[in-house]
Amino acid sequence: MSDTGKRIVVIGGVACGPKAAARARRCDPTAQITMIEQGEYVSFAGCGMPYYIAGAVPEKEGLMTTTTGYVRDPEYFQTMKDIKVLTGTRADSIDRDNKLVHATNLKTGDTIEIPYDKLVIATGAKPIVPPLDGITLKGIYTLRSLEEAIEIRKTIEENAELENAVIVGGGRISLEVTDAFANQAVDATIVELLDSILATMLDPELALYLENTLKKHGMNILTQEKVLRFEGDENGKVSKVITDKREIETQMVVVAVGVRPNVDLAKAAGLEIGVTGAVKVNQHMQTSDPDIYAGGDCVETDNLVTGKKCFMPLGSVANRQGRVIGDNITGYSDDTFPGVVGTSMLKALDLNVGKVGLTYAEATKMGFDAETFIAPSADKSHFFPGGKTMIVKLVAEKETQRVLGVQVIGPGDMPRVVDTVAAALTTGMTLQQLANMDVGYAPPYASAISGLAHCANALRNKINGLAKSLTLTEFKSKVDSDQDFILLDVRKENEVKNMKLDDKRFQTIAMHELPNRIDELDKNKEIVSICQVGGRSYETVLMLQGKGFNNVSYVEGGMSAWSKTFGEGGDEESH
Ligand SMILES: Cc1cc2nc3c(=O)[nH]c(=O)nc-3n(C[C@H](O)[C@H](O)[C@H](O)COP(=O)(O)OP(=O)(O)OC[C@H]3O[C@@H](n4cnc5c(N)ncnc54)[C@H](O)[C@@H]3O)c2cc1C
Repeated sequence: MSDTGKRIVVIGGVACGPKAAARARRCDPTAQITMIEQGEYVSFAGCGMPYYIAGAVPEKEGLMTTTTGYVRDPEYFQTMKDIKVLTGTRADSIDRDNKLVHATNLKTGDTIEIPYDKLVIATGAKPIVPPLDGITLKGIYTLRSLEEAIEIRKTIEENAELENAVIVGGGRISLEVTDAFANQAVDATIVELLDSILATMLDPELALYLENTLKKHGMNILTQEKVLRFEGDENGKVSKVITDKREIETQMVVVAVGVRPNVDLAKAAGLEIGVTGAVKVNQHMQTSDPDIYAGGDCVETDNLVTGKKCFMPLGSVANRQGRVIGDNITGYSDDTFPGVVGTSMLKALDLNVGKVGLTYAEATKMGFDAETFIAPSADKSHFFPGGKTMIVKLVAEKETQRVLGVQVIGPGDMPRVVDTVAAALTTGMTLQQLANMDVGYAPPYASAISGLAHCANALRNKINGLAKSLTLTEFKSKVDSDQDFILLDVRKENEVKNMKLDDKRFQTIAMHELPNRIDELDKNKEIVSICQVGGRSYETVLMLQGKGFNNVSYVEGGMSAWSKTFGEGGDEESH
């Protein structure tokens, strides 16, 4: 390392920190770069921890290995990147006047002073730990460090009798951990306080699809249930979770109820904290002190959909921000990080779940006058073998038809839909622009008009008033009511035989027979049309409207979406 170059110190060594350090090295070969990490491991894929617990990543080193097979340990950073890494070293305070970081070597207790010209704070987030009785018992984890992931996996592998675990919280990390436990033959029970799981990613009807599928595979999901305390055995190990509804015997607990930005150092150093409680930075990732930059889970950023500040603790964001920091601290460029659109995805069993932008619940809470449409979407042309279906729910602002978000769930190619909408949100596209975006088509990959474009067009039709449709939730309240209407199923006989609604208002006339049997329908009655995925029932509405029926609507997503959500069918194999 040069001893005359710019002194760059990075605090935090997981995602944002190492990315900032490595980029700084590429941009400035003479810089003296030091990275401080209080934990034992650096530059590991925190997002991969569930897959390590599951055994899908056999060794922990797999989470730290480069594509060329090097393990990213301190020696690697020293040799390959000329970056000095101090693990087991905690930064205690920042002396901004003298540009010093005071740190402690946690193994020896020795204190050190590290001078800097530019400082990077990448201290991440801290798990929210509810102050419940028994929370400090052995066997209760929050899964924020690789050390914890290693311990969980070891415990599972060394205890053949470990058969069940409780996951407190039903968010994305909980679901990934549940999936990992299922892989290790450990039954998991999720206890979630809210009405539905994954509430920040899915509106309730899509969350039901997920919940039904997980339950079908033997997982226990308890919503609207509050954990009150934990009880332990004579060895101080957790043995019971007590909720407001029951007692659950367990051998392991993972508490995953969210994270808060770790702003301790920044706050103590007098740096400005933003409205979300995370460190305030400008688009260059510079804090209120021009020589101190911050990024990753400890900062807030701009939400490009809402125009407001947000806290978005994601590895994707942390890495991108780290790169911007590397450019700026070395003076290589004045690159900026514009903000986020809130793109996240996860795998739960065979379901791919993704969301970008706002759910309908979020959009209405933020004051948008929003409209939605749900459509099943296949990831290949319908005639091409092997296509997999997903349910896509698109959200747009009514007046401007600006796209606000999408949620996708199913066994199909979810990332393609989510990433396309991420691009649409980044550039502020309308439904019309999204529908006509020049995306690729070949039968093994898509339909000529993609499922997403179809969904965007259907939502345009809905907002423009071409055909009235009912959301699954609206349809559910209708079938649960004693209203008098005709529930007209326009599918073919064999389809109806396979799956039908048990309802006294149910009447079937296959669409191809409708022109000749239209007189069987009472013009004075409300008609709700349903088919398999929504296409035929939509055309039925248009046909009936043309024949003078004026109270007709159709069910979005048809029987396919209904059966997976309120129909409690769960995943594809169920029908
Ligand atoms: C189980 C799990 C699964 C996830 N899956 C995904 C996913 O699929 N996709 C996605 O985008 N994101 C995912 N995330 C989130 C992602 O891991 C984080 O957003 C990312 O790690 C944040 O990086 P960071 O560098 O900002 O902070 P962190 O990863 O939290 O790292 C900060 C580091 O700073 C260290 N530190 C803090 N204070 C000090 C100090 N005073 N001195 C020295 N060191 C200090 C901490 O020990 C920590 O190691 C997941 C997270 C978890 C826990």
